[in-house]
Amino acid sequence: MTTAIPLQQDISLPCPCGSTKNYGACCGPFHQGVKLPATAEQLMRSRYSAFVFGNAPYLADTVPAQNSAGYDSDSLARQQTKWTGLEIVSTEAGGLFDQTGYVEFIARFKEKGRSGAHHEKSRFVRQNGKWLYMDGEFLP
Ligand SMILES: [Zn+2]
Repeated sequence: MTTAIPLQQDISLPCPCGSTKNYGACCGPFHQGVKLPATAEQLMRSRYSAFVFGNAPYLADTVPAQNSAGYDSDSLARQQTKWTGLEIVSTEAGGLFDQTGYVEFIARFKEKGRSGAHHEKSRFVRQNGKWLYMDGEFLP
């Protein structure tokens, strides 16, 4: 039996990942640790939402152990990045029966009053049934 982690947002509010679903029917259960993302895209969306909430433990838990040190709550808070929207451009594999997957996305943000966009093609690998974010190629 998994111990549920308290959620940082009301489950009836729209999920920040832009899926048009409520948080409780989208990324919430992943953040809470009661459900694993079934696809690379779900993991990508839930990691974006975790950035929105500054949920460092979730970000650290969804990369290979050797990469998890980069995610700590203090440095996330210091970045002062306000994530303003996620657009999934395309996906390759990353489905229920795949072991690898790619998701190309554009994440928009505001930082010190300036708007920016982070365009990346991310690589995901399923390890022991759990999708992990491996790395990404930054695109212009
Ligand atoms: Zn979501």
